[in-house]
Amino acid sequence: MDQLLIDKIVDHLQKARTVLLATHVFPDGDALGSQIALGNILRSLGKKVVLFGEEPVSHLYDFLPGSDRIDLTSPEPAQFDCAVALDCGDAERMGHDMERIRAIHPLIVIDHHKGNEGFGDLNWVDPARAATGEMVYDLAFALGAEISYETAYCLYAAIVTDTGSFKYSSTTAETFRVVRKLVEKGVKPAEVAGHLFDNFTVNRLRLMQEVLATLEIFMDGKIAVIHVSQEMYDRTGTTQTDTENFVNYPRSLIPVKVAVFIKANSKGGLSVSMRSKGSDCDVTRVAHRFGGGGHRNAAGCRFQDQSIQQVRDLLVAELRPLLDSACVEQV
Ligand code: 5GP
Ligand code: MN
Repeated sequence: MDQLLIDKIVDHLQKARTVLLATHVFPDGDALGSQIALGNILRSLGKKVVLFGEEPVSHLYDFLPGSDRIDLTSPEPAQFDCAVALDCGDAERMGHDMERIRAIHPLIVIDHHKGNEGFGDLNWVDPARAATGEMVYDLAFALGAEISYETAYCLYAAIVTDTGSFKYSSTTAETFRVVRKLVEKGVKPAEVAGHLFDNFTVNRLRLMQEVLATLEIFMDGKIAVIHVSQEMYDRTGTTQTDTENFVNYPRSLIPVKVAVFIKANSKGGLSVSMRSKGSDCDVTRVAHRFGGGGHRNAAGCRFQDQSIQQVRDLLVAELRPLLDSACVEQV
């Protein structure tokens, strides 16, 4: 951890009076959990805080205490003397109000995405951390702030989300150091897991049935692809939100090295989620090739004006050579 950088961030946050907290579009548990938690932490230090969100919190995350604080109003830069972008691998990930957020100074970036080039005035980017929530915990400590039960709950949910329940290789002793403290604050792992994973509506399960039926296998099972079309959402009364975690099913196949999920999105295009196992294949290499990003084992990108089959063919063509040379390479 770069103590000098943390000291500077602490200094800026202590001086600030009104802080905007932003995260990435289509926010997941790490994004929302980190944002709400840092909001609580800064409020406990007497700051006025706005938690900006481009869209309403999805029904999958509205159990997070404080999720009702997400404010959909476009931020007015002059009203803030500091902004923090959490869990955003690049500026575009902040969505259509990106320029307004970038007009606030200092802009502090706190993130763990590989390839984040640092679009802020101060950039704390650490790809070795499993979740932005882990970093927010350490920041709270550096700020000398008390972690409330609600804050601990949000940070715990953040870390469970991004470690795939402590299963991904990003999980480290640091992760357990932090979650131990959070559980000591009273967070019940079974309760959070229940909200995060046992959260299916009948419609969502019907969607899953349809999506799993699309399974296609390439390279003797090294690549597994599933997809969801707008028609499937329409038939089952669901939206893209309901597809959260579906990519873990093809990922769970024994021979699979890379799982791909191609999803119709609300912007009329396609969003892709990729997951790889272990150190065999770095999926950010494929995501970057198509303008996306992420982590070694979890990355994504978007396409406009192409069919699901075209996107599938493009991705499989990019993945083939990576999996042929497999995995010899260690980045
Ligand atoms: P997911 O598949 O869960 O949506 O995303 C996996 C990881 O890839 C996350 O860390 C997410 O931030 C990143 N990611 C997903 N889609 C995109 C994208 O379109 N652009 C970028 N830069 N990163 C993405
Ligand atoms: Mn994250």
